[in-house]
Amino acid sequence: MRTTVTYLDNQATTPLDRRVLGAMLPYLTEMYGNPSSPHKQGRQAAEAVCVARQQVQTLLGARRQSEILFTAGATESNHLALVGATTAVCQPGDHVVTTAIEHKSVLATCDRLTRGGVTVTRVPVEPDGRVDPARIERALTPRTSLVSVMHANNEIGTVQPLEEIANILRGRGILLHTDAAQSIGTLRFSVDRLGVDLASISGHKIYGPKGVGALYVRHGVQIEPQVEGGGQERGLRAGTLNVPGIVGLGYAAHLLTTQRAQDAQRIFDLRERLRLLLARELPHARVNGNLEHRLPGNLSLTIPGMDSSDLIAALPDLAISSGSACHTGQTEPSHVLTAIGFNRTDARSTLRLSLGRFTTPQDIHHAVACLVSAIRSGRTSQSPFSYHTDDAAPAGSIRT
Ligand code: PMP
Repeated sequence: MRTTVTYLDNQATTPLDRRVLGAMLPYLTEMYGNPSSPHKQGRQAAEAVCVARQQVQTLLGARRQSEILFTAGATESNHLALVGATTAVCQPGDHVVTTAIEHKSVLATCDRLTRGGVTVTRVPVEPDGRVDPARIERALTPRTSLVSVMHANNEIGTVQPLEEIANILRGRGILLHTDAAQSIGTLRFSVDRLGVDLASISGHKIYGPKGVGALYVRHGVQIEPQVEGGGQERGLRAGTLNVPGIVGLGYAAHLLTTQRAQDAQRIFDLRERLRLLLARELPHARVNGNLEHRLPGNLSLTIPGMDSSDLIAALPDLAISSGSACHTGQTEPSHVLTAIGFNRTDARSTLRLSLGRFTTPQDIHHAVACLVSAIRSGRTSQSPFSYHTDDAAPAGSIRT
């Protein structure tokens, strides 16, 4: 009998890789120095932070170590990028462009910018969950100073045409920020190839610890610190460095540098097996978002008649998500699903399954068996009478 949970929620968070834990442990025990201290313990810690910075630099393809700032995660990195850069370069009335499907840490920060007198345009996405670069271009004004477009979406996994957007912005003096929290674990990433000036990442999406992340700031780009104090991180982000967390982030980045391509292929093959098995067993299920430009591990599915909260409650040994972890407990449909044309009913019938480095073929078969039996037995039905299968496909969904 299976006693463990089948974990298919790697976009909410990834398990800590034991090798990362091994790298961190000494910095939680005997190597406890403050990297700002001049003595041996301090120097040991400072050396470990330096190694981690190089590891993150290599992963992002940054040219200089000084372009990497450590933060408390992608939420803070997004905040520092958006508020820090606009405070440094914007006048009231200046303009920022973003998309309708960004993570809430970007959208809420944009609301804050608006309250501070900056104009923000949220460009809609196409029904397949990708933004059309031409729409970004049309949104630009002579006052636009920053464009923020996520690399890959956390709910529907769609990958955005960042290089094309960077080409549009080139030579116009407009900064490009990307939230790469979801993509860095499986997609090739290089700040120069993608043409980004600012990029956010998070430890706990790449088998590292929670509460640590990084912001890439291209050399020469000005940002205003949002937390001041001891002058750490070149005076741009004060606070004693989270040495064990940073070591963990660095080691997680190092592991990706060596094994991301293999991880991505394995994860993609398993995702395709999952998608095809579910398509065979549940022919009315629809995959949301563009299948080609998509994270290898994401499967966002709408199953008409199924209530995702009921389904999740009925399957305690399957860890999956109803859209996005950040929406758990919320009754409003997710802004991402709304942006691709879903109504409340479609949104309630949507699941996100996300695979990762430690997903096994057994996990896939177990998940399919659980989902199919719960759905067929009607334990998850929105209607007390039947599992209705004749709903029209909402705009933006792709039938498998
Ligand atoms: N951006 C994206 C796209 C995310 O998926 C997340 C995590 N859900 C974040 C930002 C926030 O990251 P963190 O939890 O490290 O603050």
